[in-house]
Amino acid sequence: MTTAKRFPASLKTLTPQREASARELLMPQRHLREAAADAARLAQPSGRGLDSGAVRERMVARLRAEGKFDERVLAAMAAVPRHEFVDSALAAQAYEDTALPIGHGQTISKPSVVGHMLGLLFAGAGAQARGHLGRVLEIGTGCGYQAAVIGLLARQVVSIERLQGLHDKAKANLQRAVLPRPYAMPRLVWGDGRVGHAASGPFDSIIAAAGGEDLPPAWMEQLAPGGRLVAPMAASGRGQVLVVLDHVVERGVSRWVRSEHEAVLFVPLKSGVV
Ligand code: SAH
Repeated sequence: MTTAKRFPASLKTLTPQREASARELLMPQRHLREAAADAARLAQPSGRGLDSGAVRERMVARLRAEGKFDERVLAAMAAVPRHEFVDSALAAQAYEDTALPIGHGQTISKPSVVGHMLGLLFAGAGAQARGHLGRVLEIGTGCGYQAAVIGLLARQVVSIERLQGLHDKAKANLQRAVLPRPYAMPRLVWGDGRVGHAASGPFDSIIAAAGGEDLPPAWMEQLAPGGRLVAPMAASGRGQVLVVLDHVVERGVSRWVRSEHEAVLFVPLKSGVV
């Protein structure tokens, strides 16, 4: 086969450099091979099985330097191998303060956001007195990373995910991850987190990783006396903000105290299971 037959006639008028790059365009397999080699190189430095402790320590040190994170939360984050919860092609970015895709159109939250939300949970009256998060309900398991961090800070963890593909992925991730003791292995539920999980409640701490328009009544009902809930939620005129809800009991009477915190951007809280 001659060059003239293999390439369109217009290529004959190109400069040698332009012709070379045009030739490459006509050989897509070559790019696929290179992309595969690049992905393998990317995955190597922090791939599974290799020691990622130092790079994780640096991530935690950067958060600590900001001076606004709870030390117990930072210690838990220092122990969870975040790179094992994301696709191996993204493992090299796992210890940057960034959200990453986890498939099914969802993302793992930024480490600083995870740290901040868990710090807010810990600052609740019940958790302060107890020294741990108690019995926790997480809505939005995603890849299971935050559930693992919570497992190091709580006595019991129930985490609900509405997408079966992610529920299964989280299960595999959590079974593989090696974590220090004491650790409350999260119980994963495939279901609509808007209805909570009454059978395992009431909960001392409730945390949502997806943002809705309002607080589902089931969450308030399943929040134990002295308990605290932290969730992203739409706020009038402010977009989405972190909302904290405390279940306060005074002289036997319950009331729920709500406060609004900083603006955030979470994936939407949806109903139904898929
Ligand atoms: N904590 C997760 C973050 C996942 S992103 C992590 O560490 O990876 C939020 C997740 O909430 C998505 O996986 C999304 O599918 C899930 N979600 C959204 N609405 C939900 C609902 N009603 N019930 C349960 N999960 C829900």
